[in-house]
Amino acid sequence: MADAVVQLRCGVKNDPWGKKGKSSLAAQLWSKTPGSEGIDDSKTYSEMWMGTYPSNPSYLLSTGEHLGEYLKKKPQLVGKSVLDRWGAEIPFLPKILSFSKALPLQIHPDLDLAAKLHKEDPKKYGDTNHKPEIAIALSNFELFAGWKPLSDIQELFKLKPLERFVSSHTKFDDETLRQVCKSLLNADPKTVSATIKELQSIPESQFGRDPYIPVLLERLSKQFGDNDNGNLVAALLMNYMTLGPGDSVFVPADSIHAYFEGDIVECMARSDNVINTGFCPAAERDSVELFGQALTFVPHDAQSALLPRRKSDKGMNGKTDVYAPPISEFAVLCTCLGAGEKETHKAILGPSLMIVTKGCGSMMMPGDQTVELKEGFVFFVGQGVALDFTTDKGLAVYRAYAE
Ligand SMILES: [Zn+2]
Repeated sequence: MADAVVQLRCGVKNDPWGKKGKSSLAAQLWSKTPGSEGIDDSKTYSEMWMGTYPSNPSYLLSTGEHLGEYLKKKPQLVGKSVLDRWGAEIPFLPKILSFSKALPLQIHPDLDLAAKLHKEDPKKYGDTNHKPEIAIALSNFELFAGWKPLSDIQELFKLKPLERFVSSHTKFDDETLRQVCKSLLNADPKTVSATIKELQSIPESQFGRDPYIPVLLERLSKQFGDNDNGNLVAALLMNYMTLGPGDSVFVPADSIHAYFEGDIVECMARSDNVINTGFCPAAERDSVELFGQALTFVPHDAQSALLPRRKSDKGMNGKTDVYAPPISEFAVLCTCLGAGEKETHKAILGPSLMIVTKGCGSMMMPGDQTVELKEGFVFFVGQGVALDFTTDKGLAVYRAYAE
């Protein structure tokens, strides 16, 4: 049992969209692991990754061993079901993200496209896997996810400045939307900035159900310049949402999304493939043709982008919720305890990765082994281990698993 629960040291990334220094929750949590080098206030900290992904793997805190190597030596820790389907691996990749600027407007290719792209350009598309993902808000979280309802988009594109992007006036369906999206992405910088200016001169009341559009365009333009094609795609075509702590969205493979501002727990199938077309320098953008082809049209309104949080039967005291997207690679448990409260996680029959996002306490395993829990501590937990959580002051734990 002693080798089934191990504390990890994780890697952090410094992308330019990350929050700066100590204001980044990703940095805060990452820096709490004993032995961490500490936060450099001149750097941005965008993402902390947990798990075995080769470009940013986690290591056992006690020995420095690579978690992936550890699991290869102890395949029994991932359990039979995961071993049969994915090998001695963790089929998911949880992260903590903190960002004060939009991440690139993106989609993640589905299994077929990922396989094709990987074959053509293995350096750029390192994975053959798809990458559906969920994002759980830890703070207020602004994002763009999926498409607005077609009828809303059709109304918006009757506005004079937008007429130039719609070629047919007969029926407006998803193929029209694909064309509109591509023509917004292909518009030259002058047309983009002129369109934004023209839209901002129209009264908010003419934007139908989305009167926020002119102000949003202003905010986006401040971040990436008024000629970034992503500004138009996000503000006009996509659902703009603000989530509160605990709320979550599910982004299926091939679904358009751009995260705007906040701190989140993200979990995805194990892949790092991405196709970008906006909110990044023009040189870093992928082909609009490829992006346009890969697009799918789910979800098609804000409500269906949300991933409901449900009570989990893994928590014996009813203090554990689960975010379970409709895919087999992972689900995420959230256990929030007040001062003096207790919870027990039933044994899970697959691998899991756990992070303490708030508070402190302790975790007991069969055999009376007890582990201290503190904010920022990350653990790998092998299959078949029940865990007892106690806390004097309160505790919040997220645990991604597959079984
Ligand atoms: Zn993504």
